[in-house]
Order: sequence, then C-alpha cells, then structure tokens
Amino acid sequence: MSDGTLTPAQLVELAAHKGLAALAVTDHDHLGGVADARRAGERLGVEVVAGVELSVAHEAGDVHLLGYLLDPEEPRLARRLAEFRGVRARRGHLIVEKLQALGVEISFEDVARAAGPGAGSIGRPHVARALVEKRIVASVQEAFERWLAEGRPAYAPKAKIDAAEAIALVRGAGGVAVLAHPGLLPAPWRLRLVRELAALGLDGVEVEHPRHDSATRHALRELARELGLVVTGGSDFHGENKPDVDLGYGVGGNVLVTMETLDWLKGRQGARR
Ligand code: AMP
Repeated sequence: MSDGTLTPAQLVELAAHKGLAALAVTDHDHLGGVADARRAGERLGVEVVAGVELSVAHEAGDVHLLGYLLDPEEPRLARRLAEFRGVRARRGHLIVEKLQALGVEISFEDVARAAGPGAGSIGRPHVARALVEKRIVASVQEAFERWLAEGRPAYAPKAKIDAAEAIALVRGAGGVAVLAHPGLLPAPWRLRLVRELAALGLDGVEVEHPRHDSATRHALRELARELGLVVTGGSDFHGENKPDVDLGYGVGGNVLVTMETLDWLKGRQGARR
C-alpha cells in the first residue's frame, strides 16, 4: 500500500512460492494491506503479521520505527496514520510543484498513476517511478540522486512524530516496537539511538538487514543482549523499487530470520499484557 510494487496478496503469493512460513507487511503509515494479505496467507498457509513503519523525527536522520503484531483496527493508531497519509498526499503535490518549477514535465496525475489504484500512501518512490515511466530519468535511483533525496532540489519533508509517541502508538495498538535498520544511520548514532529508544520502551532492534554489514550486526546483537531487546530482521523487500532484494532472503541470501524471531516477539508482547 505504500512503496512496494506488488499488491499485498501478490506479496504473500511470492512468500509462499519462496517457502516462507511467515512474513510481516509493514507499509509506511498504512495498515490497509493487512486484510488482503491475511486472506492470501490463510489460503496459502503463510502467517501474516500486521505491521507498520512510522517515521520518527530525530536528529540522527531517517529514523524508522516498525510496529509488529498490531491490532489493525485500533482507533487511535488508525486515526494518526490517516493524518500522516493526509500530510503525505499534500507533500506529493508539493514535490510535483517543485519539479515543475525546475522545468520537469510531470503532473500529480502521473504520480498517482505510477502509484496505482491500490496505493493508499503517496511517497517519493511513486514520484520516482513516474519520472522513470515518463523516461525523464533512467532509474528510481537517478530520480532520488537528482531531485528527491534529502538536500536535493525537489525534496520535501514528511510528517514525523517523536520517538516516544511512535512507541506509545504501537504499544497502544497491542504491538511491539522495533527500531528499523539502525545500520543505515550515520555511524555515531547507531548504538546511541538504540540505547536512547530502549529507555523509552523499545522492544526490539532490527539486526538482520540486507544493508547491514557483519560488524554492524555483531555490535547491534551485543547491545540488544545487554539491553534485553529482541533481535529481529527483515529483507526490507520493495519489489521493483529495490530489484536486488529477494523477499525473505535479502541480497544474495544475506538475511536470515527464523520463526524463533516471531516467537520472541510474541513472547515480548505477551509479557507486557
Ligand atoms: P518517503 O517515505 O516518501 O520519504 O520515501 C522513502 C522511501 O524512498 C524509502 O523507504 C525507500 O524505499 C526510498 N528511498 C529513499 N532514498 C532512496 C534512494 N536514494 N534511492 C532509492 N530509493 C530511495
């Protein structure tokens, strides 16, 4: 529903095809894909974990918080997500206006078309795909490098919330809060941020990630042990937006997440109830 290129049902079909026992669907600011994914999961024997990815305002940079094992119907979280999506839609228009002012021939309709009828949450990858489809750039990556990345001329910020609220929203919806891919942050922030969020009630930290090197994984694992956090992982699969990433396996098989991880997360959730 946000920045992948498969529908939720197609995602689960691919998971089944790859022999995965479970997967979490974690759209940015959106839980709308969970019901379809669950229906497909029941049909195909794949356990679907309801998740979401929230953007946290923090000086460390692009800090993302994953909520797993959520109640998708919980009203407070649903209301906040709807607000974030409203900001995203306005931001989508703003990015298009910036591009137009730079002389790029693109309209919001092009972006909406690239996002597809099922997309509920407009993001920069949709703008990038529209630019590729119109042959203005050769790749999504080029669109980010020329215009869309932070610091580039068509960048616009999205709605962000502070870390304490993000963790509270996830917990309030019955879920567990996990810091996504800290290894993508500037090096001085990685471990420091995990400590900071642990003090706010963080449940887990994503260690297995395609873009985490082995030294980063080792350091995060050690810190998780010290702080009593659950170690998680994910392939961060985005379909054609990240063509080198394989669902559930990462890049060249560099991600391994076993069912034990899901058991640990459920245990953590149960312990707090
Ligand atoms: P948004 O939530 O709209 O700010 O878009 C963020 C998403 O854009 C990320 O989750 C990535 O999928 C994608 N993204 C961010 N930076 C890049 C980049 N340099 N190249 C390609 N995709 C990117």
